[in-house]
Formats: sequence, structure tokens, C-alpha cells
Amino acid sequence: MTGSLTIAGLGPGDAALVTPEVSAALDAATDVLGYTPYVARVPARDGLTLHPSDNRMELQRAGDALRLAAEGRSVVMVSSGDPGVFAMAAAVFEALEASPQWQNLSIRVLPGVTAMLAAAARAGAPLGHDFCAINLSDNLKPWPLIEKRLRLAAEADFAIALYNPRSASRPEGFARALEILKDAGCGERTIIFAHAVTTPRERIDILPLREATVDMADMATLVIIGNSATRRVGRWVYAPRRVS
Ligand code: SAH
Repeated sequence: MTGSLTIAGLGPGDAALVTPEVSAALDAATDVLGYTPYVARVPARDGLTLHPSDNRMELQRAGDALRLAAEGRSVVMVSSGDPGVFAMAAAVFEALEASPQWQNLSIRVLPGVTAMLAAAARAGAPLGHDFCAINLSDNLKPWPLIEKRLRLAAEADFAIALYNPRSASRPEGFARALEILKDAGCGERTIIFAHAVTTPRERIDILPLREATVDMADMATLVIIGNSATRRVGRWVYAPRRVS
């Protein structure tokens, strides 16, 4: 039996946003690996072994998945949202680079609806013009690089999606990000806090950035800052398609 590794995105939370392609991969899997809360979204069944693991064990988890696939198992590695956006796909390729014996394994990456797109859809179309996405977690990169990217994104007038805006271990990071954006002249821009989008705990707050406070974001929040042309129409927020 030939093994395979499928790296799949489960979308932002709602089962209706799991793609049919990902559902089919899960139906055919013998083993599912991933961060515990994501593995918990996969229904248990006979013939399927679930391997939940801690968030900080990405490279080990990636190596485990490759080893199981090499043993002939049908392995699915799950991420929330899209697996290529601040998630497991890159970790698997990093592990693969370090392990030449596995480089002929059958590997697929199946896209998912990333949090940024689910959040934008709730607000309207704030990513309708040029935008960028920045991960505010400094686990895997130095904080000064995050500050530089925020400043340059503001200067370039991108709409900005912020992943991992705030964690208990790093409460000051998001406060600093708001300060940088205000200093860069973004105080009048629209900011969207999209909490637990597409889950029963969903909550969307839309306000001017100068009124934003740190406690509006937590680890289940995706933040979008509009560009300078972003407008409101009724309850909707959108970036006009034409910018002069
Ligand atoms: N691969 C994921 C992102 C992982 S990083 C994706 O493509 O969506 C984790 C961050 O994603 C969280 O801190 C939060 O900023 C965001 N996120 C994930 N799911 C979310 C949801 N349902 N609602 C709001 N933000 C979410």
C-alpha cells in the first residue's frame, strides 16, 4: 500500500465551509494529525486514528506525519483556515527539506477558507483593493521586523489583515501595533475586529482606528484595517475598486 500525506485546511469554523475536497480526504484518511482543537473538529470513526498535539510542536508533528505516510498510511494534516497561511504546510515542507528519504512521498496541499476572507465577507469587501496580511506573533520572527512591516504597509496604503493579534504571553504587541498605525497617520481609517468568525461565538466590531482598544482583540480575532479610501455604506465596509 502506498502512503500519502494531505495537508488540508478546515476553514474558519463552520462545517459548511469545509470544502468537498477536504471532506473527501478526511473520509479516506487512516490518520489525522494537527493542533488539538483542529483535530477535535474531525469526527471520530472506525479505522481512523486521531493524533492531536500541542501548538508548539509543529516540526515534530510534521515529521510524524511524513513518517506515517512513509509507512503506507493515508495521513491528513489539518490546519484551521488555509493550511498555507501561517500554518502547517510550510512546516511540512521544512521537515521534508531536512529528510531527503521522504522526498518522493505523495503529498497534496488542499486549500481552505482563510480567516481573513471569512472576516472580510462579514464586513463587506474591505479587501477589495490591494492588501497584505501580517502575523503579529513574534514566536517565529523578531518583533522589530513586524514593526517595520506595519509601518511600510501603512505607508503603501494597503488594507492590512492582522493574524494572531494578541496572546496572553504577549499582551503588549497589539497595543504597540495600534500605536505604530496611529503614528503612521491611520487614526481615521476603519478597523474591523472579527472574533470567532462563522462560529456561534462570532462577533464583528467596526470603528475608527483611533477609538480601538487593546481588549477588542484576542487570539480568536482577525483584525482588518482598511486603506485610506475605505468607505462605509449602511452597515457595510468596502474598499473602492478604483483608487486615483
Ligand atoms: N491557517 C489559519 C490561520 C492560523 S493563525 C487561517 O488560514 O485562517 C491563527 C489566527 O487566525 C488567529 O489568531 C486569528 O487571528 C485567526 N483566526 C483563525 N480562525 C479564526 C476565526 N474563525 N475568526 C477570526 N479569526 C480567526
